[in-house]
Order: sequence, then structure tokens, then C-alpha cells
Amino acid sequence: MTVWSAVEGQPGVVAQLQAATVSPVHAYLLVGPPGAGARAAADAFGAALLCPHGGCGECRDCRLVAAGEHPDVVSFVPAGASLLRAEGEEIVRLAMRTPVEGRRKVLVLHEMHKVSVIAPMLLKTIEEPPESTVFVVLADHVPPELVTIASRCVTIEVPPLPLAALEAALVADGTDPATAAVAAAASGGNLERARLLATDTGVAARREQWATVPRRLDGTGAAVVVLVDELRTLVEGASAPLVAQQEAEVAELEERVAQYGERGSGRRRLEEAHKRALRRNRTDELRFGLATLAGGYGRALADGRGEVVELVDAVRAIDRAAEALLRNPNGTLLLQALLLGLPALSA
Ligand SMILES: [Zn+2]
Repeated sequence: MTVWSAVEGQPGVVAQLQAATVSPVHAYLLVGPPGAGARAAADAFGAALLCPHGGCGECRDCRLVAAGEHPDVVSFVPAGASLLRAEGEEIVRLAMRTPVEGRRKVLVLHEMHKVSVIAPMLLKTIEEPPESTVFVVLADHVPPELVTIASRCVTIEVPPLPLAALEAALVADGTDPATAAVAAAASGGNLERARLLATDTGVAARREQWATVPRRLDGTGAAVVVLVDELRTLVEGASAPLVAQQEAEVAELEERVAQYGERGSGRRRLEEAHKRALRRNRTDELRFGLATLAGGYGRALADGRGEVVELVDAVRAIDRAAEALLRNPNGTLLLQALLLGLPALSA
């Protein structure tokens, strides 16, 4: 098992990074939606760059990188919705540090679609880092602020994972094929989310509840208020498996703290990662619900049930609302306005 076997369903990405290991340039940009594997690819690449055998998966370097404990693979994760000046300064400082162990250091910058106004501050460093530093920049997409930095990197696209690859990965984890199929279909191409959903017995019931919405609309505001209330409870409740997972991680941390002390425990980083994951989970869940809703109108259209223009408008309105909700995930009012405008469907 080399380090590359941790990168599931992305043979093209692995091939490009493997080739780059031989004679790496100063910076790589991996662009792809959350959960498609960019992070796993960055870790594997980091290990391959430090391992004397190009990522054997067995030596000390490879094992330390896999455990997130190699001193020369440094990860930077932004704390908030956009990078702060102090964070930019930290990145520059990290880039200038000499490697601790070997001749090379890998600096992995996560979520750099959040770079915003501090991009110019980073440009020079990413363009011409010290010879010992290799940048691996990760981004969900390339916003205008990131374009100039992107032009100084070798860009590798990490596409969303195809359904078959997701199912295969879940089955390989030990999930039964039927559950794997449901979880993969509801994951939006995101392996992390698919893994979470595979342990989530409520996913089919939640899909069913979203699917009943068009049948329960009766043109009254009262029905909409009841539905939106239910849907919001549904979305909140969907975080239960994630919360359980996070509680287990906190318990592990407490154990380590009891043994080795608070210093260097990574508590703050864990808490921030948990908050981000919860926010993202809510957004994913809403996206999943709205896709289910749109699917219902799409099927009605295909079956010739209802007015064509009305159904097409309904699907468009749901898409628009999905985009708006992703910017403002607490949009109860938006969800109400959407449902008020949607036509009722018969079963
Ligand atoms: Zn190795």
C-alpha cells in the first residue's frame, strides 16, 4: 500500500502528482469540490515528496505524514470565512522556515478560495518560495482573487467523484451495497459526506420527507409555515451522526490531554474544524433536500403531470433558492418564499 492508495477514485489526479514527484516545481494548486479527494491527494503528495522512495507508505516519513505529525508537512487552515492579514503573515513566516528534518518542506494551504484581499500579500512568496519549500494550495473553486496566485501554480483539477467510485469506496469500508448506493447518491460527489451518510440511518426517511413537500402544498401560507418548520428541524436533526463523531474526537482529545497536558493538544484547531464541519453539513443537507425537491418536479415533467411552464419554473426557482441558501444557510424566509411560489403536485 503506497501513499497513493488513500486517494480514492481519482486515478488522473494521482498520475499527475506521481509524475510531479520526480522533479517538483515550487507550487501546485488542487481545485475541486469538498470531499472529492483534494485533501487526501495533498497528503499523499506531501508524503511522496519527503519519502526517499517516492511515497512507499511504510517508512517513517510516510507514516508521520499519514498521522499528520511530520514536522516538514505543515498545514494551514483559515479560521474564518475569509483570510485575515495576520493569517497571511503566518503563511509567509511558515514558508520562510527551514525544514526541520530533511532538505524539503511541504506547505499545504487549505480552503484558499477564502484568500480574498490578502492574495497580493501571498503572491510573491508562493511565486518564489525558498528552494526548500513546495506549496500545495487547495481550493473548492477559483474566485477572482485567487486567479493571479493560480497562474503561478501548476493547476490540477480534482473532479467530483463519480457515483460508482463513491459506492466502491463505501463497500470497501464494509458498508453493505444497498446502504452504499443510497449514501453515495445523496452525497453530491463528496466522499466524506457519503461516509457520514453511510452511518446515518435517517437519510432515506429525510429524502422521503422532502419528496412529500409538493403533495402537501395547498396554496396557503399556513401549510408553508408548518412545512418550513419541519424541514428546518429535519436539517438540524441530520447533524446527529456528525455530532456523535465529533464527541468521540473530543473524548480522544481529553484522554491525550489527561496524559500529556493541554499544550500542543490542538484543542482550538479541533473545535474550529468541528464548527466548520457542522456549518458545511447543514449546507450539504439543504442542498440535498432542495435537489430532492427539484427531482420531484422534474419527474412530474417527464411523466406529463401538470403544466409544463409551471413545472419548469418550479425547478428553476428551486435552483435559484439553492444558490441563495448556500450564501445564507439560515434563510427560513427564503425557504418560505420558495414554497409559497411552488405549485402543488398530486401523488
Ligand atoms: Zn515512504
